[in-house]
Amino acid sequence: MVILDPELMKIVEARVLNKKVCRRCGALNPPSATRCRRCRSDNLRPKKKEVSKK
Ligand SMILES: [Zn+2]
Repeated sequence: MVILDPELMKIVEARVLNKKVCRRCGALNPPSATRCRRCRSDNLRPKKKEVSKK
């Protein structure tokens, strides 16, 4: 099943990407989290699409 509606896709992407990923264990955390809820590491990165820079 593929989402073809671009507006719906934006909402879905925003919800999916608006999280933080632990670099240590890979757990997803809320965007407001400062520490991983699984391993308590503060090594979190925002999950965002990165545009490749050349
Ligand atoms: Zn973690």
